[in-house]
Amino acid sequence: MTKDFSYQCLNCGHSEPYIAQIGACPACGGEWLDPIYNLPETAQIWQNELSSRDNTMWRYWELLPLLDPRHIVTLGEGWTPLIHTDNLGAMLGHRHIFIKDERQGPTASFKDRQASLAISVIKESNVTELVVASTGNVAISYSAYCARAGIKLWAFLDSNVPHEKMREVTLYGTEVIKVSSTYDNTKQVAARFAKHRNLFLDKGIRSIAAREAMKTLAFETAEQLGKKVGRPWAAPDWYIQAVSGGMGPIGVWRGFHELYQMGLVDKIPKLAIIQAAGCAPMVNSFEKGLETAEIVEQPSSVINVLSTGNPGPAYPYLRNLVLKHGGAFVKVEDEATFRALRVMAQLEGLSMEPAAAVACAGLIKMMQEGLINADETVVVNASGHAFPIEKQILERESVKSHTRVQNLARHEVESVTDNGHLRQERLLAALERLDERVQSIAIVEDEPDARLLLRRILQYKRKYKIFEADDGASGINLIRTQQPDLVLLDLMMPDVDGFAVLDTIKADEQLRNIPVIVITAKDLTSDDYRRLSGRVESLLQKGEFMEEGLFESISDVLK
Ligand SMILES: *Cc1c(COP(=O)(O)O)cnc(C)c1O
Ligand SMILES: [Zn+2]
Repeated sequence: MTKDFSYQCLNCGHSEPYIAQIGACPACGGEWLDPIYNLPETAQIWQNELSSRDNTMWRYWELLPLLDPRHIVTLGEGWTPLIHTDNLGAMLGHRHIFIKDERQGPTASFKDRQASLAISVIKESNVTELVVASTGNVAISYSAYCARAGIKLWAFLDSNVPHEKMREVTLYGTEVIKVSSTYDNTKQVAARFAKHRNLFLDKGIRSIAAREAMKTLAFETAEQLGKKVGRPWAAPDWYIQAVSGGMGPIGVWRGFHELYQMGLVDKIPKLAIIQAAGCAPMVNSFEKGLETAEIVEQPSSVINVLSTGNPGPAYPYLRNLVLKHGGAFVKVEDEATFRALRVMAQLEGLSMEPAAAVACAGLIKMMQEGLINADETVVVNASGHAFPIEKQILERESVKSHTRVQNLARHEVESVTDNGHLRQERLLAALERLDERVQSIAIVEDEPDARLLLRRILQYKRKYKIFEADDGASGINLIRTQQPDLVLLDLMMPDVDGFAVLDTIKADEQLRNIPVIVITAKDLTSDDYRRLSGRVESLLQKGEFMEEGLFESISDVLK
């Protein structure tokens, strides 16, 4: 079943029926064309049919710019999970944070949506050879889909693309040209090559397919969020993404806008555009109030996936959306990104590539700056998986220093085997030594979630022996019997509260020297401060400290 739809030129408003291989506006030559579909009819069809369709992005076929479904090139992309973040949420004191896990695409990044649609459209136009410029992920994804469609691909990669990604691209049979320059220059070289050889050039953000593909992120999110709140569709309050060219947020906004026009959702999420501080043309220009983007000539962030220095028309487009409908432009330092990368892996089990972690660092920064209200629902795009570039990540000092590998020394291993037989007592002695410097911490906290979070944060350092008590009275018992090296103490507990626990510890000759760190959700009065002063090592506010802060306090105390 084929479909008809039209398009409209963003520049001059000219509109006519869409045909395959449409390049520019015939009226003004404008390159930014937006398709217009039959939304009322689509709403009707979706109501009746959507739930029985395949779980790929192609379930939203009516609103994708392809004329004939026989041209679809698919690897099962889309319908990635929407995951609630229990631990990160508890740490940030926010209950409604979801991760859209785009790492689970066929080639492990959200570019698979773009590739599936763009290559399908190209196949429909009978193009057999294609040129693309990329910082890595587009080239990998396009390579996979071109291989399936029998399209020859020329991928121009900038010199910062890691070897692992280059190798992956060549594996699919793609012709790789490495350009020793920035990504922006690489795009120009690719364009010249395509013109010279008279080959089809992928226009990135300027192509209909790239932007339209990202709408499926919005459709899925609304369906999945709806299921969680018992409605057919629901929109979050925020969509947060790491941004380079801006294709993602533009497409996502359009997707929610169409759902809104169909009457399926009651709002469109605010967009949070997160960029790496070393290449943040959109954020910097927005902060300066500029209408067109100031170009970053030499990106200095190590996160090369996000190295679009010249965002072109995407910036005014996004600026306009944020000014009109709310949202935020936020930049984050690479160090904050690598911290967020560790937090997501170790608290949520999500190992992301640095470009994706930029969004998480942005989320954390926005929470800390109070840009997101407590009752707002937040969706963060985990746009790519760590595994293609694990080597780069692990080589970074900031991650390495926190990666603890416990090894039995060689002589210890040899001493426990005697003619091939295991000598039990020596093995135990050797294993004991691994635990030698373990310090013990008692957590006295009545809220199970907070207790769990503290234990999880402490456990991934593996250094501590952890005891837990769920009220003040059993906390006092625990501290008496275990004599821990440190107590983490909640203040607000029924019956025996934190102040009472503290009074008891300080009145006891044997316990008085055990350091105490108070973790509280209470707004402290000056009287509270007086009761705590000089008796606790430090004071952390629940939902505001990050694992770094906690560890700093703990290692200060345990030194
Ligand atoms: C391409 C990419 C981005 C940025 O996408 P845009 O929406 O085009 O700015 C973010 N993260 C990853 C992993 C990417 O591959
Ligand atoms: Zn026009």
